[in-house]
Amino acid sequence: MAQRILLLEDEPAIADTLLYTLTSEGFEVTHVRLASEALAAFRAQAPDLAILDVGVPDGNGFDVCRAIRKTSELPIVFLTARNEEIDRVLGLELGADDYVSKPFSPREVCARVRAILRRSAGRPAAPAASGEAATLQLDETAQRIRCAGQPLALTRYEYLLLATLLKRPQRIFSRAELMDLVWGDAPDTADRTVDAHVKLLRAKLREAGVSAELIQTHRNMGYSLHI
Ligand code: CA
Repeated sequence: MAQRILLLEDEPAIADTLLYTLTSEGFEVTHVRLASEALAAFRAQAPDLAILDVGVPDGNGFDVCRAIRKTSELPIVFLTARNEEIDRVLGLELGADDYVSKPFSPREVCARVRAILRRSAGRPAAPAASGEAATLQLDETAQRIRCAGQPLALTRYEYLLLATLLKRPQRIFSRAELMDLVWGDAPDTADRTVDAHVKLLRAKLREAGVSAELIQTHRNMGYSLHI
């Protein structure tokens, strides 16, 4: 049976592209434009995952997420347009599973959706390399990090954060240093944004078969990567 996705997005061009891509990938998509419609569709249809735009005419995706979270652990992906929205997604502990920032490629959204559905079904996305630790390779030209040959699906800041740690294994970076090095173009970034990104990165690494212990927390000091 096709997995059902609830899509809340008020911009027709974005909604059409996502609808087309998700449907052609075999998902059954219910598209709504308003927060109120999203809640009604959530209650009526029991979707397998929700993709929520943050800004919609009658409210916002955060409130929809909160309302859903009162009764359900439904996987939720946010579509965010601005850095401040990303900060809020990460900082408000809304229980979102991931976010994608606009502009995005619909393929990227599909890849995220599949990864989250696999994760929520409790199945590992990729088998851990047997008998040896999966290795990470940084490809700065392509701005990608590969794990056992497979590119990791990382957001821009997740990539920059992991690349920064990877370039100097064992070194402890303070939150302030990471904010400078990774979020230099977003000066209003809060400390908790670093912590939230580390949490997301650990989840993605675990999913790729890498030990989440790879990134270590040093109390009152910061983070380091151990390979
Ligand atoms: Ca919008």
